[in-house]
Amino acid sequence: MSDFSLDLNEDQIQIQKWVHDFAEDVVRPVAAEWDEREETPWPVIEEAAKIGLYTLDFFAQCAADPAGLMLALASEELAWGDAGITLSVLGSTLAVSGIIASGTPEQQGEWLPQCFGTPDKVQLGAFAVSEPDAGSDVSSLRTRAEYDEKSDEWVLNGTKTWITNGGIADVHVIVAAVDPELKGRGHAAFVIGPDTPGISQGQKFKKHGIRASHTAEVILDDCRIPGANLLGGKDKLDLRLARAREGGKTKTQAAMSTFEATRPLVGAQAIGIARAAYEYSLEYAKERKAFGRPIIENQGIAFKLSDMKMEIDAARLLVWRACWMAAVKKPFESGEGSMSKLKAGEVAVHATEEAIQILGGYGYTRDYPVERWHRDAKIYTIFEGTSEIQRLVIARAVSGLHIP
Ligand SMILES: Cc1cc2nc3c(=O)[nH]c(=O)nc-3n(C[C@H](O)[C@H](O)[C@H](O)COP(=O)(O)OP(=O)(O)OC[C@H]3O[C@@H](n4cnc5c(N)ncnc54)[C@H](O)[C@@H]3O)c2cc1C
Repeated sequence: MSDFSLDLNEDQIQIQKWVHDFAEDVVRPVAAEWDEREETPWPVIEEAAKIGLYTLDFFAQCAADPAGLMLALASEELAWGDAGITLSVLGSTLAVSGIIASGTPEQQGEWLPQCFGTPDKVQLGAFAVSEPDAGSDVSSLRTRAEYDEKSDEWVLNGTKTWITNGGIADVHVIVAAVDPELKGRGHAAFVIGPDTPGISQGQKFKKHGIRASHTAEVILDDCRIPGANLLGGKDKLDLRLARAREGGKTKTQAAMSTFEATRPLVGAQAIGIARAAYEYSLEYAKERKAFGRPIIENQGIAFKLSDMKMEIDAARLLVWRACWMAAVKKPFESGEGSMSKLKAGEVAVHATEEAIQILGGYGYTRDYPVERWHRDAKIYTIFEGTSEIQRLVIARAVSGLHIP
């Protein structure tokens, strides 16, 4: 028998079904409502916490999958229900990934549970890198972190923007410049816990899609945090900065190591939206009649659906490959993490647009979900690195050149 298999095992199938049931029974029925309200769907997050889906334990169980697929499976199913609500439920995992990527075991023990809270008091996490003048170009971020030796505190100043759960999170992971001259190599990640003076929410954005997910500015105004809240610790940072000043090689930058880990999972969400649109438009095309026959009997419609299905499957294979590579610690030598997110994001935009086309005028109205899925899909070519930036990562990896 071959060692190679794409069959899911029992545990994976069980998780996939469990999350799908939640997406179908709890998420989808309220998706349009929360999209209209443009608010964080607290009752859905609370329900997810109650059944054990919004918990550190569930995250840890999925992350421990030796094949690396469980988080991707859960992400796809949840986003099949609704992407905005998914980001509200999974947004905290960005902070979690940031803490795991840079934090010591003690810091992980202290902060990871606080990113979720308890079913009685759910909490959120946020991961803040982007700034008004530093989105794709993370290396030029301006938020400063200065060490006050006397009090053993870090003082943070700056403005972060586009932050998922920004200002409403209990745990903010902030990437800031300790030594701006070193650009990305002078960055470090800090945790800001609940009720810390000096951190506040700026404007909340009104968005095109994923409107059930809160996106806002985070303002840091002389925000003082204990020295211990520097992820990884000061000794490690000092060593890294010294090496960078001598021109030596340093480990991956604070923000980049988080994004590498999360990109395939973001891709999995995009596939969930694309699949929702494909399934809906397939059923519609079988039922809707024009010129006396179901519209699917026209090749012009049937071929769209063939392409949608093929592209969704292709994107999923790239996501699964990247997840598996990350799990078995196979390096992304050709930008495989970026490939997976790039393909999935672009497939989601295309598939949801085709779904609108298949539904015709009905697809363009808010009475049907496909227009919402199209609006939701678009963010997947923008956040966690735009499509252009993913291509840059892949181009640099395959060419070995620093393509600017
Ligand atoms: C809803 C939402 C949620 C978000 N959540 C978070 C979050 O939780 N945390 C966080 O830190 N950030 C978050 N972001 C920020 C997101 O990651 C950035 O918006 C994204 O990285 C792009 O940065 P920018 O918007 O500044 O665009 P810019 O960097 O200004 O880019 C504008 C355009 O120029 C292109 N471009 C830029 N440089 C190049 C180049 N070298 N070659 C080719 N093309 C290029 C880009 O691809 C893009 O098309 C979120 C954004 C949104 C909209």
